[in-house]
Amino acid sequence: MSNRDFAAKQLNKIRNRIERAALDAGRRSTDISLIGASKMHSSQIIRSFQEQGLRHIGENYLQEAIRKRSELTDLNLHWHFIGKIQSNKTALVARHFSWVHGVDRLKIAQRLAQHRSKQAETKALQVLVQINIDDEASKSGASALQVPALCDAISQLDFVQLRGLMLIPKMRQDHEQQRRPYATAREILELSNQRFGLNMKHLSMGMSNDLEAAIAEGATMLRIGTALFGARPES
Ligand SMILES: *Cc1c(COP(=O)(O)O)cnc(C)c1O
Repeated sequence: MSNRDFAAKQLNKIRNRIERAALDAGRRSTDISLIGASKMHSSQIIRSFQEQGLRHIGENYLQEAIRKRSELTDLNLHWHFIGKIQSNKTALVARHFSWVHGVDRLKIAQRLAQHRSKQAETKALQVLVQINIDDEASKSGASALQVPALCDAISQLDFVQLRGLMLIPKMRQDHEQQRRPYATAREILELSNQRFGLNMKHLSMGMSNDLEAAIAEGATMLRIGTALFGARPES
């Protein structure tokens, strides 16, 4: 199968899953963005998906992302940084991305803002605060208890715009079990908005095996890798 046919088929499959889940949840699928989580996949493949209508790309590894972005400058794509952010990499993240999903400390947000302020790019960097929803040592993210105050602090910075929350829950197989962490994230977003008068609207949640559960709980941005691009090639 050509890359073109593959991309068309895969996008169609995911769009059908999104449509059905949105219908079940009484939501509009147009309120849900699809981000292709393309780590380890080639620029060539990303190009084929863009030609079939994919507009958002999520990358985890900075050097890989910068290389691919330079190979795809002719395309209309929105670049999302969805990996772990180290504080010594904030200048590059602020320069090469429009969205950053994994902000988990005020210091990171301050550094992103500071670097963004020195750039020609006039639009604020769009940021999401990551919740470590299952309190896992292996994952980054602020604890659920810290999130509202962290959001309040970030919302006061210039050059970054706080848009919502992101999370990567533990793998769970059962749909009802999958929904629970996503429901909690939605409650934390609403509570933070109320308590501090914030205007966060986005929940970046849902991956290949649980996008239906995430949509049921209000996801507005899905980060889909395997179910879109296929298994990741070995590096
Ligand atoms: C890889 C990755 C995804 C996509 O995972 P799949 O299970 O392949 O859909 C989503 N979010 C983040 C942060 C990732 O690193």
